[in-house]
Amino acid sequence: VSALYVLATPIGNACDITLRALHVLAIADAVACEDTRNTSQLLQRYGLSKQLVAAHEHNEREAADKIVERLRAGQRVALVSDAGTPAVSDPGARVVDAVRAAGLQVVPLPGASAAVTALSASGLTDERFHFAGFLPSKARQRETALQELAVMRAALVFYEAPHRIVETVQAMLQVFGPERRVVLARELTKLFESIHRCALGEAPAWLEEDANRQRGEFVVLVEGAPATDGDEADAERVLRILLEELP
Ligand code: SAM
Repeated sequence: VSALYVLATPIGNACDITLRALHVLAIADAVACEDTRNTSQLLQRYGLSKQLVAAHEHNEREAADKIVERLRAGQRVALVSDAGTPAVSDPGARVVDAVRAAGLQVVPLPGASAAVTALSASGLTDERFHFAGFLPSKARQRETALQELAVMRAALVFYEAPHRIVETVQAMLQVFGPERRVVLARELTKLFESIHRCALGEAPAWLEEDANRQRGEFVVLVEGAPATDGDEADAERVLRILLEELP
């Protein structure tokens, strides 16, 4: 059926594509993508060749109109980004918004996303997590963003580029303090995958010890804010009130 298929692609290991994604790519009339070169290489790897529609950060609105036209004409369009799940720190959301606004069908095809992949191997036991994506690159704005996150009782998940990793971890240390655990998940699903967990206070030195530890793509996870006595007292008070009300 005609629909926009929001299709997750691997974040490194080509085997991490799903069978359903391969099937949809095979039957799609067109593939909307962030970078046509990147996506044609990806398709080649699976023995496919498709008509590509560029839908990147700078032309997403126009691309959305073209995609809506194709869907109205009864086509199946797959939407991919360069890696992982479209619309997660990647283009895609505007296209999906336009397709929904036009009353047309959107079908998600789940697959890899660096955030969830890293979280699953982090061993952080917070019940909740907050996806913070990329921090601002300017120091002042980054600090403000970190301060806002510092009180959250949820594991914090960040994306970071290699050239900023040391600086970012240092900024996190300044704001969150040395005790919280941090997980540095690098090059997930790739040849040089490494997932290192330590106290935030130890992280900058660990990164600086070996330049290879700063290479590649990173997900940084930080344990959530610890429960304070005040919170527990509040919780107990609420519990007492609730128990009194119960039959
Ligand atoms: N849409 C993607 C997803 O679902 O994960 C994210 C795209 S975002 C532009 C790219 C960032 O994701 C990188 O800078 C890095 O922080 C993270 N990332 C992507 N692939 C990764 C990998 N294999 N290992 C670690 N981090 C990765």
